[in-house]
Amino acid sequence: MANAAAIRNQIDEVLSSYKLSNEQLEYVRDQMTQNLFNGLHGKKSSLKMLPSFVRGIPNGKECGDFLALDLGGTNFRVLRVKLPEKSDDRVEVDSQVYMVPETTMRSTGEELFDHIAECIEDFLTRHNLADASLPLGFTFSFPCVQNGLDNSFLLRWTKGFNATGVVGKDLAGLLHEALERRKLQSHLTYSVKVKAVINDTVGTMMTCAYTDHDCTIGMIVGTGSNACYMESEADIKTLKKEQRLAGNGRMCINTEWGGFGENGSLESIRTDCDRAVDKESINPGCMIFEKMISGMYMGEVVRYLLLNLVRQAGLFGGVATDILKTKGKFLTAFVTQIEADRSHQLKACSQILDCLGYANTTLEERSVVREACVNVSTRAANLCASGVAALVLRSRDIETKLPALGSGDASRFRITVGVDGTVYKKHPRFRFLLSDKVSELCPNCDVTFRQSSDGSGKGAALVTAVACRLGENIEA
Ligand code: BGC
Ligand code: MG
Repeated sequence: MANAAAIRNQIDEVLSSYKLSNEQLEYVRDQMTQNLFNGLHGKKSSLKMLPSFVRGIPNGKECGDFLALDLGGTNFRVLRVKLPEKSDDRVEVDSQVYMVPETTMRSTGEELFDHIAECIEDFLTRHNLADASLPLGFTFSFPCVQNGLDNSFLLRWTKGFNATGVVGKDLAGLLHEALERRKLQSHLTYSVKVKAVINDTVGTMMTCAYTDHDCTIGMIVGTGSNACYMESEADIKTLKKEQRLAGNGRMCINTEWGGFGENGSLESIRTDCDRAVDKESINPGCMIFEKMISGMYMGEVVRYLLLNLVRQAGLFGGVATDILKTKGKFLTAFVTQIEADRSHQLKACSQILDCLGYANTTLEERSVVREACVNVSTRAANLCASGVAALVLRSRDIETKLPALGSGDASRFRITVGVDGTVYKKHPRFRFLLSDKVSELCPNCDVTFRQSSDGSGKGAALVTAVACRLGENIEA
């Protein structure tokens, strides 16, 4: 048995590749910026930079009664959102969570959309809306090419979804068809018209911007990770002529930063654990950045890291249990629970390890496990900060060219990032690590993070409200 100091050295060595210096994070930030510009110009880029056709943040005058759908996060939900006449009044939201079984997520598109239609019908029936006519905003949290607000084509599935026959299809069309099939069976007379399909980042930004006019970035760190921001329309070279509006406006761009790194820009910092997680996923080679950050993968990265610590530093006496060796057994929720636990004996960690087949662990072993969690979640927050920094600095550049959106103060650039997602909301330190690192990576900027409450639901309603008011062209 090696002595304690030697073991400590081995542990430090295994963990060292998770500690990123500011120099490395600046490199990530600048690579992100480079890919951002390439994407805007239609050049090869790992950021898809998708125009959203959302052209302004809400002005607070949006009102009315809407349905919203939220698909692509932890839960699938149907919502009814009432936007009040005065924006100071409360937005009323009724919502219902429905399960999407994993088999449905990965079956055929027809089965998936039939399921969604069935849930919508159930919701309408329960809320006495079975003969109502309501506009619907669809928060669909996957990369889509849009030709207009209600005209959205799936580029590819991410996270756990993989239903066949949906890539390349018009989502509003698929939903309308499923609803028609459904109505033939039920003989109900409701009329639901999809008015807008939006990404969850866009919904999150819009919801925060409804009350905070400095909010021009939206970010999700949940099951997946992504961000959007308001870009100057003239600089979005991928827009076709007929898609442009005259004047110097802005349009929200869905960056799809989860795909960052697919062209190799993160190879210098990826670890063997990152590569293992990617290899075992349903979409190898894709969503490299997302796999280093988001809730769907963080626990897996820790699991592989623990296996390394077992093998290389003799953790748990060098024994890997069958459970620890099984994909998906170390949940991201465990990372949160272990780090949130402040008991001296690390009780939460002890219980979790017990479930993984390690009874009677020592406090020392548990501290190492905790350290592994801390290293992986800190790295995730830091990488996320690099991405945010790139968008903040880009937004500052735009503000020097276009009239200020928010309450501009020339000396110090001020911006709000609307945020949502389980990792951001539940992890005990993520938000603090993120905002501290962002301050270091974009000096002289005041960046406020604001947790959006139900951005996917309210945001879809907001975009739909403006769409109904103005037709296709959303302007503030
Ligand atoms: C998707 C994005 C989405 C993000 C957060 C990613 O996997 O590609 O469109 O915004 O997850 O839900
Ligand atoms: Mg969500």
